[in-house]
Amino acid sequence: KLSSRVTGITPSGKDGWEVHFDALVRHQAGEPIIMLSVGDHDFHTPAETVEACVREVRAGHHHYTHLPGMPRLRAAMAKVTTACTGVETTPQQVLSTPGGQAALFAAALGTCDPGEHAIIIAPYYATYPPTFRAAQVDISIVDADAEDGFQPQAAAIEAAIRPNTRAILINTPNNPTGAVYTRQTLEAIADICRRHDLWLISDEVYWTITGGREHLSPRALPGMEERTLVVNSMSKSHGMTGWRIGWLTGPEDIVATLISLNLVSTYGLPDFVSRAAMDALENGYGVAEIAERYAKRRRVFLDAIRGMNGVTVRGSEGGMYIMLDVSALEPDCETFAWGLLNGEKVAVMPGGSFGDSARGHIRISLCQPEEVLREAATRLKRFAGSYK
Ligand code: PLP
Repeated sequence: KLSSRVTGITPSGKDGWEVHFDALVRHQAGEPIIMLSVGDHDFHTPAETVEACVREVRAGHHHYTHLPGMPRLRAAMAKVTTACTGVETTPQQVLSTPGGQAALFAAALGTCDPGEHAIIIAPYYATYPPTFRAAQVDISIVDADAEDGFQPQAAAIEAAIRPNTRAILINTPNNPTGAVYTRQTLEAIADICRRHDLWLISDEVYWTITGGREHLSPRALPGMEERTLVVNSMSKSHGMTGWRIGWLTGPEDIVATLISLNLVSTYGLPDFVSRAAMDALENGYGVAEIAERYAKRRRVFLDAIRGMNGVTVRGSEGGMYIMLDVSALEPDCETFAWGLLNGEKVAVMPGGSFGDSARGHIRISLCQPEEVLREAATRLKRFAGSYK
């Protein structure tokens, strides 16, 4: 018999992912499908980072590292967190993890006992519900609605709070909606956390990719530093998805305790990967270029779909995604996504995979070169036009 802890990890939005997996198999078999369904870069990690890693491997850095991360790595992460959150951060406030996903799991395990309750804002990154379920946390999903530009509303969050609620999980810039949370939104959430004595887990892995907007972190708001855990990663900002480097930032005493999670899970990060990551963090390899590339792709795609039949753009300000409301054409976003895949060979994610408030939408990933995005927009417009 397997434990319920493991069997309970059912992925969210399973049916929506079928579109992606079907497209992937067909794409790999040679069908000319434009893949806009995944959030992984179409380009390689910056050459300076790759060279740094090769150098470190050759130099014989093949050994165990420190559990919370090597001191210089933690220092580099702290410096980036200072820039990300606007709050002076020390290396002792940082726990390095193999990617932002492991930082999310550490945050769930660290803040909630089994049977306690956490609030997740939808539309959400697909791993959020199973991550908390794996930690045996009871979850409530609170919808941020398209009509509000996918900005979560305080009254809806407040209504979901129970006596055993311990944490709220938010994500800005947001995957899947591309919404960049406003100061007003963050202040309202911070107010709830202070009044109800809750943790705020703030996933800021897209903080550099804001389409030119200012990134605001709730950690900088009054009384929030001591109750905020920030999730960060090099996957998106530094073009390093496959390297598995992320970190969690929080109060020093909490981080000191969470180090024990690394003892029982990873036993620390790989040596040469940590050293290459330090170099990339200290020198910001690729960060500005990647941010600019996505900002340009966003402009190109939004320009290219102008005049499209029956579609509304919501959120879509930052991160690597654009959300299109297609409900005026087809109420079932999965039907729309299958039709687009089979009719025009463009793979997108149906919004329902990211929670109820994204139903009626499709998520477009900007992980393709500009000319491919233009071609995808042409196909999408043609498909939308077929509903006339
Ligand atoms: N958080 C969000 C919102 C994401 O979109 C992702 C990846 O797509 C992650 C966290 C996890 O990223 P990683 O584990 O690669 O750092």
